Amino acid sequence: MERLFDNFKPENYKIELRINKNTEEVQGRVTISGEKFKKALKLHAKNLKIINVAINDRKKEFELKDDILEIIDVENGALVIDVNYSFKLSHNMEGVYLSTYEYEGKEERIVSTQFESHYAREGFPCIDEPEAKATFDLKIIDTDDTDIILGNMPKKAERVLEYTSVDIDESPENGVNLNKTVKRKIVEFETTPRMSTYLLAFVVGHFNSETIKNKHGVEITTYASLNQPKSMLKFPNQIAADALDFYDDLFGVPYPLPKLDQVAIPDFEAGAMENWGLVTYREACLLADDNTPKSHNEYVATVITHELSHQWFGDLVTMKWWDNLWLNESFANMMQFYCADHLHPEWKIWQDFFTEDCLAALTRDSLPGVQSVQQEVKNPEEIATLFDSSIVYAKGARLMFMLMRIMGERSFFAGLKEYFKKHQYGNTTGDDLWNALQPHAKFDVKEFMDAWILQPGYPMLTDDDQQRFFINGETDNTKWPLPKITDDMSGHYIINLSGQEFAEKVENFDNLNLEQRLRLLIDRHLLSKTPIVSTGSLMDLLPKFRYEKSEPVFGIVSGIINSLKTFAAPDTEYYPKLQRYIYYIIEENLERLGVKPKSGEDTNDTKLRDYILGFALYAEDEKTINALASLYDTDYNKINAEIRGDVLAAKFRRDGEEDFDYMLDYYKKESNPTIKAEILSTISDARTSKNIKKLVELLEKPEIVRPQDHAYLYAYMLSNYWTRGIAYDWCYSHWDYILELTSDKSIDDYARISASRVRTREDADKFYQFFDQKKNDLALKRTIEVARFDIEARLTWIKNNTASVHDRLNRF
Ligand SMILES: [Zn+2]
Repeated sequence: MERLFDNFKPENYKIELRINKNTEEVQGRVTISGEKFKKALKLHAKNLKIINVAINDRKKEFELKDDILEIIDVENGALVIDVNYSFKLSHNMEGVYLSTYEYEGKEERIVSTQFESHYAREGFPCIDEPEAKATFDLKIIDTDDTDIILGNMPKKAERVLEYTSVDIDESPENGVNLNKTVKRKIVEFETTPRMSTYLLAFVVGHFNSETIKNKHGVEITTYASLNQPKSMLKFPNQIAADALDFYDDLFGVPYPLPKLDQVAIPDFEAGAMENWGLVTYREACLLADDNTPKSHNEYVATVITHELSHQWFGDLVTMKWWDNLWLNESFANMMQFYCADHLHPEWKIWQDFFTEDCLAALTRDSLPGVQSVQQEVKNPEEIATLFDSSIVYAKGARLMFMLMRIMGERSFFAGLKEYFKKHQYGNTTGDDLWNALQPHAKFDVKEFMDAWILQPGYPMLTDDDQQRFFINGETDNTKWPLPKITDDMSGHYIINLSGQEFAEKVENFDNLNLEQRLRLLIDRHLLSKTPIVSTGSLMDLLPKFRYEKSEPVFGIVSGIINSLKTFAAPDTEYYPKLQRYIYYIIEENLERLGVKPKSGEDTNDTKLRDYILGFALYAEDEKTINALASLYDTDYNKINAEIRGDVLAAKFRRDGEEDFDYMLDYYKKESNPTIKAEILSTISDARTSKNIKKLVELLEKPEIVRPQDHAYLYAYMLSNYWTRGIAYDWCYSHWDYILELTSDKSIDDYARISASRVRTREDADKFYQFFDQKKNDLALKRTIEVARFDIEARLTWIKNNTASVHDRLNRF
């Protein structure tokens, strides 16, 4: 990929945008000062209509081709580029985009930005590469003078001007009405520090907000759209305030901006975006109060601590190029737990890291063809595919965690402090980080970490030997430098215990600490997907966990139980047998915990109940279903948040799905993102043909299920035995529709989700038939290749284990 930064080094951008939310037109002017080195002067510019270009006040010829704006005949040296241009707001959650929602019967419009990874070029011509750091002066002129306008920096000036319309340069679509008085809100922001284009952001719209100052004097404000209750802003605002204070001390370099804003945007592609000083979030990832489940509030806290760690890892110090994206994401993914654990030790949040992130990393990283944490990228289409959450985020975080444990926390953070001090406002590669850590380590950090960061996969340790582990049981001889082997959760490897060693550890289970217990089960769970350990043998073990009170331990057990569902389709004789088997495992906990949360109970019990009730519903335990359904209230805000999803599911099931229409109507009107998610998940479990038809229709109703949530609906329908085939057929026959609906970044989600639910040869063949034609698409290539192996390994696992699982179910 041609790096434009080699030709021209920008110093400062002055950007002026006239935004009309209603016509969706934006008129822009950018003035870039910098220095030109090489022959051609080229800027990134995508979906922009270029009106005219001047260099040092002299008009210039230009060419716009393949998203590159080339300015012809320009001398080398210091220069000022002036570009007038216009564009339309995008609708796919990239670039400068429109988000809408309804409030008091009227449509509300929000304009917001998503510039990572390479979409700043859709907002203004620029060198859209992370290394091309510059300062930015942003000015916004808005046709709605009642809007709140936010940027990375505090406002320098804000005024409302009144004109008669003839005075101003109206776009022809608006019509010029000589008598009309118009108002314009004009906001100028203070100059940003030196930063990358992908971190620039602004938000325009009507919001509720909540402000506090943290201990170090930074003003923190959390914003949400008007249809969200203000009670949802307090918790995220406090977490942000405390997290910034914590990071200030831990990283040694204080948060460099005078303010921090967090905004929940109704349409949002990812979970959140770490724009410097103006972090934007999906509503479900920021908003929380007493009426959302505790586990949700903890999750929200980790999203915030993730994004705020980026204010250092990513914003203050930025990777040179996207191949080092892990410098941002692996760190942020580890820090989100590290910070949340310091703010709320009582949450025991590392448990979530072990049971979710570590397991996800081990699972994905067991497939050949999977990317390494550091991965070369050549084409812009490939940048989007880098964001593999199980690898660049989860595995990378596990590797940083491993390094931190080997070095010790004190040494690790001493090195990091030096890293931030030395590289602030600059760009780095992995080597810069290893160099900063080296003086604090007793081993060669680069040599050790390179092997883990640059190679995909991980070792399976058997006695004194290591081999790369693949989920189909194959191995190869890739080697990794090993730390001191421990049987806790520190290292990214699995330990292949012999049957006897495993049995001894299980015998001694109560004397192991939590991390040892988790490792034992996680490693065994992975091995049971290979011919090394039979799934049937795990079934002999599971009944031991009927007295298990630890939520994270039961979380891993529940993953194993869920994998058994594959062997007992609902229309087979094994279904009721598996229901009985599962009920036996949960019976004791169900009795002990009851259906309703008790006041003042331990969070462990609240979260454990969630697993137990889910399985009780699967087992169709009448007593539980009736008890839950009796707690149903037509006002969902009045149902206990901790069990609300289960209550809805029980009511839906007990009353033969008769609430489908009521629930869907409720979904349309509700703004609380957790309640919406609970409803969508409930109705996606429909089994009657009448309601299945409505679900399929929903796939094509973005006015009801927002594009940001579309993949969830698709995934729920694939998880539902009765809708799986229909959902596959819909996806394969509506690919162009999905392309239109979703952003570049999300498209491979559909391939990944589709692959993960394949359980039969027939579904596999359909998958190959469809996706094999897409193999040359750079945005999908890797996902499709990895998927084929994943699917074949799963089908082999099912074939090899069906008899032994059925045999045990028959005997149970
Ligand atoms: Zn991140």
